[in-house]
Amino acid sequence: MLPVMPTTVLSAPPAAALDPTDPQAIAALASDICAGVELSAAQARALLDVAPGSAAQEALFAAAQKVRAHFLGHRLSCCSILNVKAGNCSENCTYCAQASGSSATGYDKTGWLPDADIVNAASSASANGAKALGLVAAWKGVKEGTQLDMVCNAIEKLAEQGGVRADVNLGILASQHCADRIAQAGAKVYGHNLETARSHFDNVCTTHSFDERLKTIGYIRKAGMGLCSGGIIGMGETKDQRIEFAEQVRFIAPDMVPINFLNPVPGTPLGHLAPLPADEALTTLAVFRLMWPTLSIMAAGGKEVVLGERIHEVFRAGINAIMVGNYLTTLGTAPDYWRDAAARYGLELVPEGEESAEHGCGCGKKSCS
Ligand code: SF4
Repeated sequence: MLPVMPTTVLSAPPAAALDPTDPQAIAALASDICAGVELSAAQARALLDVAPGSAAQEALFAAAQKVRAHFLGHRLSCCSILNVKAGNCSENCTYCAQASGSSATGYDKTGWLPDADIVNAASSASANGAKALGLVAAWKGVKEGTQLDMVCNAIEKLAEQGGVRADVNLGILASQHCADRIAQAGAKVYGHNLETARSHFDNVCTTHSFDERLKTIGYIRKAGMGLCSGGIIGMGETKDQRIEFAEQVRFIAPDMVPINFLNPVPGTPLGHLAPLPADEALTTLAVFRLMWPTLSIMAAGGKEVVLGERIHEVFRAGINAIMVGNYLTTLGTAPDYWRDAAARYGLELVPEGEESAEHGCGCGKKSCS
């Protein structure tokens, strides 16, 4: 049975309204959260309205850093992704250059990569300080049969290489058996985003459903893999829907939550949208930190486009994980930049060799569940 998740989280007025212009009230919230009080959806929604450059926004960022330090310390994880099968996807996700119907041309389409390319990419990710390499395929998902065999073979090669943790992001799983085989092949973490609020999902994809994604998340959990699941901000959703999405993420409690910002690629249906303003993106990250105090939050794709020279401020907004290197079809930021920026915010990369002491999602637990 699919989990029942919150859908109309903002239907009731807040019992005690939060004033998003009051720095003291925001600072008090941080202390409450550190003491175990959960931020309500209504409080989170109010915080999305803090004014850019205001004392209240400064208090919000300070609150996000306080909560991160309290629950997660000063460690920063990073990971990389590799597109093992690029382009010609059957799905119609409106934000994606690889989708069916997209006329975006700025990347190379490939079939499933040879094992040697995957092993080389793992070595390079490890040299760049990444703890994990996620194999990502542009297709609907994995079915039993030769496709599952091919996938498992590649995961085994990546796991044998040993330099980085073998993660995968292979779309919708057709059955529990697929999830179990992928876990047995050595995949430690399966990435499968919610993408956006349930109420907005049909506006961004119609070839599969939000519930199909939830079903796959259930298979991932039952197979014992860590769950990496977040979404994309700036796809035309309302601020209410951003908080609805955050409530739904809180409900599934992933081990890692990658937050992407829409990079509006020409040739995609969302290519006409303007990138989110930098302050709105940073405020959203900080509010998510207060909503998910114990979850690892990764600044993932689109941050270069949305934040520009302010990209280092993702650390100011309370994130504790970073995606390094290039994304699926667009370029990312060099790992050296992140090392230096993290140090300026008093954060350090999780040292090499500690991988075996934790599950590796940055969650700091022995096992993710
Ligand atoms: S996001 Fe994934 S499933 Fe959707 S179109 Fe792009 S590659 Fe296909």
